[in-house]
Amino acid sequence: HFTNLPQIPTDEPFAVNASYIKDTYPKKVNLGIGVYRTNKGDPWPLRVVEDAEKAIYNAQDISRHEYLSIQGDREFLRLAADLVFDFNSVQPCADTTQSGLDRVTSIQTVSGTGANRLGAEFLTRNISPGNVWIPAPTWANHHTIWDLAGVPRKEYPYYNSSTGEFNYEETLQTLRTSSSKNDILVLHACAHNPTGADPSREQWEGILDVCKEKGLIPFFDLAYQGFASGNVGKDGWAIRRFFEEGGIEFVVAQSFSKNFGLYGQRVGALHVVSSSSAAQGVSDDILAMLCHLVRGEYSMAPRGGAEIVRRVLGNKELRARWVEDLDTMSTRILSMRKALFEELVALGTPGDWGHVVKQIGMFTYVGLSETQVFAIRERHHVYMLKSGRISISGLNETNVRYVAMAIDDVERG
Ligand code: PMP
Repeated sequence: HFTNLPQIPTDEPFAVNASYIKDTYPKKVNLGIGVYRTNKGDPWPLRVVEDAEKAIYNAQDISRHEYLSIQGDREFLRLAADLVFDFNSVQPCADTTQSGLDRVTSIQTVSGTGANRLGAEFLTRNISPGNVWIPAPTWANHHTIWDLAGVPRKEYPYYNSSTGEFNYEETLQTLRTSSSKNDILVLHACAHNPTGADPSREQWEGILDVCKEKGLIPFFDLAYQGFASGNVGKDGWAIRRFFEEGGIEFVVAQSFSKNFGLYGQRVGALHVVSSSSAAQGVSDDILAMLCHLVRGEYSMAPRGGAEIVRRVLGNKELRARWVEDLDTMSTRILSMRKALFEELVALGTPGDWGHVVKQIGMFTYVGLSETQVFAIRERHHVYMLKSGRISISGLNETNVRYVAMAIDDVERG
């Protein structure tokens, strides 16, 4: 029975992390895993999260470990949706009297991964997409998730490695010529993982046009809102733009892992957006379907982390402090981009390093080949993914020069 299972490749970020942990070299550097680290290289529970945790504990609410509903914590969901769509600021669509709020159906999920998975299952069962279009490259789990959903995967040429930018022209060309109605289009809402290269606002307009023209269903993966730029409104702009358009149906997989530092707590939400002309009551049917899928998988998402997020987002003062914590993280990441860039320039390392400061978010495609990635690991104990993706938050004032020198060494052969 269990002796002939197919061989499943190990998950790369977790495997790289395990090799790093085993390495005993004192100057080793972990640029593999996508988690925030302080300037000392330590994990950082957000200050506002620690205060919310204490308040939850002190409240001694005897119901705090009871079941949630299948949908999850509704107040958390209202606040989570509002963080994405900013209902008060959204312009009402020209062709409807419906408020934007009615168009969004939300359910709590097992973080961003769970939201991606549930969204994939929901779409697969209900609209039978011919294909899903995934950026090349992308977060590797998109492939696993859509493979499990059983939808044929096609890639669009997202990244231009010679410019270090989003490959707008070729992406649009590919979608125009090869996609079909009801195909799913996976989009990173901000801080594209692994490249750190995002579309400009004008380019988002072009993507929106092609979605309308071809009848595609956008699937926004929102894993870095506020973490990327420190500004939640700015990082959520593309989604709000699609929302305001009105006539388009799409989904959003929202994660609170990075922007609240709640990685292992698994806090997230899936938002299904119906078009402004959809019949009333469609939201009830969407919710019933989502609840059905969740009930059969795990009954409901966990409640602890969502309660922390609810308390912070629902309280003006705590929310302002959260924005300060976001600023601390995004500013440190930006300063490490700058430091790495400056070290490489000072060393005169062959190549153009401008992309390191141009790209945003946690990751950058630093531009090393697979052979160089293995060489830098072997010779300098610097760990990164074989694509050359580095997590900027693994850099700090103590190791950035060492990393730059290691890159310089493998660049020179
Ligand atoms: N999507 C992308 C693009 C990500 O980078 C991540 C985090 N690595 C996620 C989704 C989801 O992470 P989580 O399940 O921890 O929320």
